[in-house]
Amino acid sequence: MPQTEPMLRALNVHKSFGEHEILKGITLEVNKGEVLCLLGPSGSGKSTFLRCINHLERINAGRIYVGGELVGINERNGRLYEQNENELCRMRMKIGMVFQSFNLFPHMTALENVMEGPVTVLKKDPEEVRARAYELLEKVGLRDWADRFPKQLSGGQQQRVAIARSLAMEPELMLFDEPTSALDPELVGDVLKVMRDLAESGMTMVVVTHEMEFAKNVAHKVVFMDEGNVLEQGTPIDIFESPRHERTKAFLGSID
Ligand code: ADP
Ligand code: MG
Repeated sequence: MPQTEPMLRALNVHKSFGEHEILKGITLEVNKGEVLCLLGPSGSGKSTFLRCINHLERINAGRIYVGGELVGINERNGRLYEQNENELCRMRMKIGMVFQSFNLFPHMTALENVMEGPVTVLKKDPEEVRARAYELLEKVGLRDWADRFPKQLSGGQQQRVAIARSLAMEPELMLFDEPTSALDPELVGDVLKVMRDLAESGMTMVVVTHEMEFAKNVAHKVVFMDEGNVLEQGTPIDIFESPRHERTKAFLGSID
């Protein structure tokens, strides 16, 4: 990937469900090592957009590039071809995703959850994977909890295991969809801390969140979405200190 190529580039992305147009031309870029926070009211299309990035939803128009490569389609001699399962799989391996509901495998320990992908999907040597999994659990503050099952962990701990599990696949881009929204307030901080450490380690991240302090302090770019459009985007200072649109002001006012 050339140095100047953004890690994520969305160009005029449209997505409809039936007659209902949910994304109305989303254009944005995230450079390698940057954190983009995606804000906006419920129903504005944030989750749909994240799902389009790894082709869990098929877009109707526009282009999405991850690491300089088209997502979902190939372009050859000016014609478009749907990507096959292998191509989609290869592309999805570049992208980690963490959801509001962490969906760990309930019958596996934290360690086994983190090891699962690299062992079964990437066919890596289990002993190497185990060592790496311990490192990742250490990184999210759960080295001593490696042998616990999900139900023996708090929601915040489970979410940190989910982050470690995602990182075990060595993604180039991490997508977070309201990772702390389902957590009790006292558990949110530890998860945000892990995400902040990850950002500081240089991971490229797109984070849908209502945690405004996180967006202010960690994001390089903030995008405000409303009704399927990017209403405004800029640095955290631009968006938080001088929002241009009434709807952005109203939204920020309602959250703080
Ligand atoms: P946000 O994450 O910003 O709250 P979503 O992307 O979840 O917004 O939803 C945007 C709109 O798209 C909502 O009106 C939602 O009902 C609709 N929507 C999302 N997924 C589907 C789907 N699979 N089928 C039909 N409508 C959907
Ligand atoms: Mg959502």
